[in-house]
Amino acid sequence: MNQNRISKDEQALVLFIDMNSFFASCEQQDNYWLRGRPIGVCVYTGQYGCIIAPSIEAKKRGIKTGMRLNEAIRICPELVPLETNPDRYRGYHVKIIKILKRYAEDVIPKSIDEAVVNLTNYKLIYDDVSELAKKIKKDINREVGDWLKCSIGIAPNAFLAKLASGIKKPDGLTIINEQNIDEVLGRLQLVDLPGISSNMAWRLQKHGINNPIQLRYAQPEKVKNACQSVVGLYWHYRLNFSEVDLSTHDYKSMQAMRQISASQRENVEQVEAILLTLCTTLEKRMVRQNVLANDISVSIRYEDGRWGDMIKPGAPIQEATEILRLIKLKMKQSALRSGSESLLNNKITSLGVGVFNFVDGDLAQFNMFENTLRKDNLRKLVYDIKSKFGNDKLVKAVELTNGKVLKDVIGFGSVKDLDEDYIMQL
Ligand SMILES: [Mg+2]
Repeated sequence: MNQNRISKDEQALVLFIDMNSFFASCEQQDNYWLRGRPIGVCVYTGQYGCIIAPSIEAKKRGIKTGMRLNEAIRICPELVPLETNPDRYRGYHVKIIKILKRYAEDVIPKSIDEAVVNLTNYKLIYDDVSELAKKIKKDINREVGDWLKCSIGIAPNAFLAKLASGIKKPDGLTIINEQNIDEVLGRLQLVDLPGISSNMAWRLQKHGINNPIQLRYAQPEKVKNACQSVVGLYWHYRLNFSEVDLSTHDYKSMQAMRQISASQRENVEQVEAILLTLCTTLEKRMVRQNVLANDISVSIRYEDGRWGDMIKPGAPIQEATEILRLIKLKMKQSALRSGSESLLNNKITSLGVGVFNFVDGDLAQFNMFENTLRKDNLRKLVYDIKSKFGNDKLVKAVELTNGKVLKDVIGFGSVKDLDEDYIMQL
């Protein structure tokens, strides 16, 4: 469903909800004794483990996302490190989305802790949207968890609603409308707009656009030239009450799966090569669809059981080698934790990788650093060349295993684009 529109509509109504310090708050919700304490949720809790989600209390003590545990403990010795529990967060996510759907049909989860609700068609029902926002907060407290807080932003489009939600944290409620937008933007710098990197800000400044107000009133063509891309037009639209962030992709998820034959599983290297092929397949499909994924899932079946987990890369991801690296890291941690042998072994009967929770490639600026974006453009170019001149004409070094080119699993053009659960077979 695409709810985007280029036309201006100051009367449209979008609500953006952002759960505050979500992972850490879920942990504190489930464990009473963690409440009020600085905690850091980590992928693993070794010395160099990385904090992916500090609690509100930890943030107040200077702990930041991405900090290594040894550094964090130096700054805040009372910090409690905890390992992630993806199932727990998913469980809360589902309950929160359910509450939002009570109030409107058009609820789009943007990530595990964010969602957009398009209220434009409900304006007659909810004449006071800040009352509605307060009610949603209350519902979450009462029915999902009394420790869970959220910041809500309300504006005529999804971008401005997201911007509004970030203005007061935790537990904020901010409205941006035609009357106050210039006042709100006047207090911000270009890099305060979600998705504007320092690099992009520098480019805009080179073209005489020095702050959000000037960006709002600049001629669209000028912004486009400054950004050297259509992305520039999006910035004009976003700050002028059009909507460019509300399309839900046809894809909700993409999955690639393969059976592993008895002879293949004899050689673990071969199994790993197959895992890379699955990641490469997903990368290609994401490049084709111009999307990046916020979440990865992996599942393995063995002769005598199964293993699976979810991975949150932290920033939208597309690259096969990076997906593979994260999967292998996850497997290593899981094996270490359970004291079992390597998860990639010769009992494997099937492998599956999934990517989901997509963001638009054009809007990937949203969470990404400039250099990643450049890499993504390069990758797109590589695939364009491949689809024009044939798959074997240009091969990434990682696609070469034992001197052999890994056979492309799906030929270009034969991808069943609308089949979400397309299972490939070799
Ligand atoms: Mg959040």
